[in-house]
Amino acid sequence: MNEEPRYEVVVVGAGPAGAEAAYHLARRGRTVLLLERARLPRDKPCGGGLTPKAYRAVELPEPLVRARVRATYLQFEGRGRFSVLGDDASIWMVCRRELDQFLAERAAVAGAELRDGSAVHGLEWDGGGLRLRTTHGTVRAEYVVAADGAESLVARLAGLRPGREAPAMVALEVEGPGESALGQVALLDYGVSGGYAWVFPKGELFNVGLTSYDSRLARQLRPRLTRFTQAAGVRFHGQPRAVGHRIPTWGPWAPLERDRVLLAGDAAGLADPFFGEGIAYALLSGRLAARAIDAYLAEQAAPGAYASLLRLALGRPRQTLGQLARVVYRFPRLSLAALRLLPPTRAVALRIVTGSRLDEALWELRG
Ligand SMILES: Cc1cc2nc3c(=O)[nH]c(=O)nc-3n(C[C@H](O)[C@H](O)[C@H](O)COP(=O)(O)OP(=O)(O)OC[C@H]3O[C@@H](n4cnc5c(N)ncnc54)[C@H](O)[C@@H]3O)c2cc1C
Repeated sequence: MNEEPRYEVVVVGAGPAGAEAAYHLARRGRTVLLLERARLPRDKPCGGGLTPKAYRAVELPEPLVRARVRATYLQFEGRGRFSVLGDDASIWMVCRRELDQFLAERAAVAGAELRDGSAVHGLEWDGGGLRLRTTHGTVRAEYVVAADGAESLVARLAGLRPGREAPAMVALEVEGPGESALGQVALLDYGVSGGYAWVFPKGELFNVGLTSYDSRLARQLRPRLTRFTQAAGVRFHGQPRAVGHRIPTWGPWAPLERDRVLLAGDAAGLADPFFGEGIAYALLSGRLAARAIDAYLAEQAAPGAYASLLRLALGRPRQTLGQLARVVYRFPRLSLAALRLLPPTRAVALRIVTGSRLDEALWELRG
């Protein structure tokens, strides 16, 4: 009988969370297998907008950054438009296909074994370690990082999945070459019940999308996206396909690790409760999972260290974002008026959203 391949860590899912975890584990000299169900490069429904807490965490090659957007218009149902300038906090625009390919290759170059086109479909605990059943046979691991996204199977198999009532947004986006009446200025419209609509410019590409907590909107997202695209003055060349997904935002207070399985990124419900921004949190949790597992393997930390680190890094800023979400989505028109008329509230909101008050050491952000 063939011996099952053994790794110190198997990371399931090569999105930002998994690729970042695999990269940092490999750099620490750990044997790591990064398993990805899709063939790379793969697309992922996403706006591809990065705030400083994402792009200050990873050195991105210049061609990957399609645009650096300094000005964003805010409005409510197409009215009351005003602009917010984030001089030191511009939003960088990327295409997920390119970003994720770069992150996965970076992990492989650092020494992780990258296997795409290989899905995990089973997980068993066995003799102090783990056995994963994949489409290419079984593999063994001492630790597993579940970075398999919003519908994480591994979290479910580990008994770490919250119920369907856990908060999540639904989102739909479309991206392709086109033109926008706003040029290279981004637009956020809060006239969507329990959410917002956006236009993200990326040079000659544009990404238009809608997201909401209101489950009654799920079936109306498509026609609403078409209407919003027209109203915002975006014209696509050709007919790019609209793609959607859930954005889990239940956050770091739910269980994050159990019996050598650690959840990261969307699998852990980490997207922020206000914007549904998830890439920065996927990267952060991937880094912290790598740090914690390295310490577990060296017997320098006890189980639970990962959850503590993540809650320390996320707790306070997330509470503020949660409060902001409750106010803005309940009183969107009033909130926008306050932002428009009172510049100090704008400065505070910008700080919260861009994360300029984060613990830079814990987040490992570059200057
Ligand atoms: C429409 C939309 C717009 C968004 N816009 C933004 C934005 O502008 N900015 C932002 O920061 N965030 C945005 N988000 C959120 C962001 O996309 C996610 O938070 C982010 O992708 C999470 O990264 P992840 O690595 O946890 O998961 P993912 O990127 O989903 O990666 C998970 C990977 O796991 C793989 N996988 C799944 N199951 C298995 C299995 N059984 N075996 C092996 N592999 C498996 C998948 O193929 C996938 O590659 C948006 C989300 C949506 C839906």
